[in-house]
Amino acid sequence: MQSISPETIFRGNDAWEKALPQIIKLTKNPLILGRSIHTKIIRYEIFRDLKNLIPDVSSAILQFDCCYEDISIVKKIILKNNHDSVIAAGGGKVLDSGKYIADSLNIPCITVPLSASTCAGWTALSNIYTKNGQFIEDVALRSCPKILVYDHKFIQTAPSRTLASGIADALAKWYESSITSSTINDGLVQQAIQISRVLRDQLLIDGEKAFKDQFENNSSWRNTIEACGLTAGLVGGIGGEKCRTAAAHAIHNAITQIVTPNKFLHGEIVGVGLLLQLRLEEMRNNNKLAEQSIKQLLELMKELNLPTTISELGINVFENKNLEKIADFTCRDKSEIHFLPFEISKQDIIEVISNFEQQKIKI
Ligand SMILES: [Zn+2]
Repeated sequence: MQSISPETIFRGNDAWEKALPQIIKLTKNPLILGRSIHTKIIRYEIFRDLKNLIPDVSSAILQFDCCYEDISIVKKIILKNNHDSVIAAGGGKVLDSGKYIADSLNIPCITVPLSASTCAGWTALSNIYTKNGQFIEDVALRSCPKILVYDHKFIQTAPSRTLASGIADALAKWYESSITSSTINDGLVQQAIQISRVLRDQLLIDGEKAFKDQFENNSSWRNTIEACGLTAGLVGGIGGEKCRTAAAHAIHNAITQIVTPNKFLHGEIVGVGLLLQLRLEEMRNNNKLAEQSIKQLLELMKELNLPTTISELGINVFENKNLEKIADFTCRDKSEIHFLPFEISKQDIIEVISNFEQQKIKI
């Protein structure tokens, strides 16, 4: 069974208002989940609008990233108060928590992304982390959310850093799926890969303008946020698990194992992983186009103020055996790195990262 998309999607400047009648048909006692202090006002508006229509609305705050500790606390609240749905309003980690909790209790999930940082509002997947933000595993869920509300006026209030992060994460779709899945003889997978190529092209055209003119709500901005939050999710929905992530996400997962005082967003780390994946393709697969792609991506990433090296993520790979730790986790048995069509060893990862980090001054 494959769940391609949320059952109903509302998008645009008044998506939330348009979604309300449908939401109250679906749920009479929802629990609104959120986390960040930045989204407190919007979450209060969501709460107030629902409270005006149905009396039994509650909210709960997550403490950490999408982790089993938070999940178990919220599950207990839902069971105690008989909540009949979860409304997850926030960034990727809040959306992933809400989807996971709703799936495990067999109640509907309504996702309300409050930034364009990921496509988590769409997908039937939750990434689970430790309380400290270290990646543990991806969990496939039974279905995509019941309702996705992609309200542009909410997303416009998010820090521009979240948009840059969403662009990096969505760009990775093409570079990862095209290398892992181009030989799979399945029309839908091939079409999903082609959508991810069009998605990349659109981000290369519109991404920088969208980032710089975020508060103008022009067509570049609208196209970009929908590319990151919707189209990227559609690629995963159509391509399914065969349309795979590869080294960029494997390296992201490994980098999160090093706990740093300043936390970075998912797409910010994936962007660095993507540059390293392309270096691996150049080194191990003799891919001549990879060098060109690196130059093109570096140019865009600089304009978007995205980190381009692991040291810019606050980690010195040459200290505390960090390089070995990253290489170990990247190459562990169940890592996505093994979906690459060529063998990768720990030594390859150590070599590519140390070269890359040492060259950073030249870039
Ligand atoms: Zn991602």
